[in-house]
Amino acid sequence: MFYNFFSDKLIRLLLIFLYIMLRTALRISMLGCCFSCSKSNSYCFPCLSFRRQRSACLQVPVKPLLSQSASDDPAKICVVIDLDETLVHSSFKPLNNADFIIPVEIEGIVHQVHVLKRPHVDEFLQRMGEMFECVLFTASLSKYADPVSDLLDKGGAFQSRLFREACVYHRGNYVKDLSRLGRDLNRVIIIDNSPASYIFHPDNAVPVVSWFDDMSDTELLDLIPFFERLSKVDDIYDILRKKKTSS
Ligand SMILES: [Mg+2]
Repeated sequence: MFYNFFSDKLIRLLLIFLYIMLRTALRISMLGCCFSCSKSNSYCFPCLSFRRQRSACLQVPVKPLLSQSASDDPAKICVVIDLDETLVHSSFKPLNNADFIIPVEIEGIVHQVHVLKRPHVDEFLQRMGEMFECVLFTASLSKYADPVSDLLDKGGAFQSRLFREACVYHRGNYVKDLSRLGRDLNRVIIIDNSPASYIFHPDNAVPVVSWFDDMSDTELLDLIPFFERLSKVDDIYDILRKKKTSS
């Protein structure tokens, strides 16, 4: 009797132990799935709710944002360039010195958006278009950003344009996920005034100071020699790292 009592207890303890071990093993395997998904070029929906999802990780291939034929030279580095506060500043308030005025309809009302070009933007875009595959990537809506780009980029530096719907909404910010472009990440650079935009790929970023109305600003002009050097290197990370440590 005494022996049976302890034997039952032992079996129960063993079963509880086995249950805990199985649960831990299952959680670790799903955590591993999350890590691998974050490195891959696809989205993993179960990882968003791993407590509820107990089945195998579902990998859904995502169509790249850029087509392969968009680049006239596949060997060129792809440079993703932001719009607002990087190349232009726009305002609903009338600006006497606006370069463009764009009518934009919002909820049935047409608003006049006044756009100021950052100093040296024409020269910057022309040179960048010669050296790189340039992509306009903005978190703004296309109904505003597309007509701005038409007027801003007369020389056709941008081979592609990506708008808000191409961003990933992450913790209250529109993030530009460079891994979705369909280009080798080792050959992608992003120029942006907002660090939140490139939070997934900070090593690929060339930060720029936000611009609003300072007409003596030379940020874009000063970047041209840096990009001329970048256009000739095999390892972009080496140059980007050196720039970060020097600034
Ligand atoms: Mg911006």
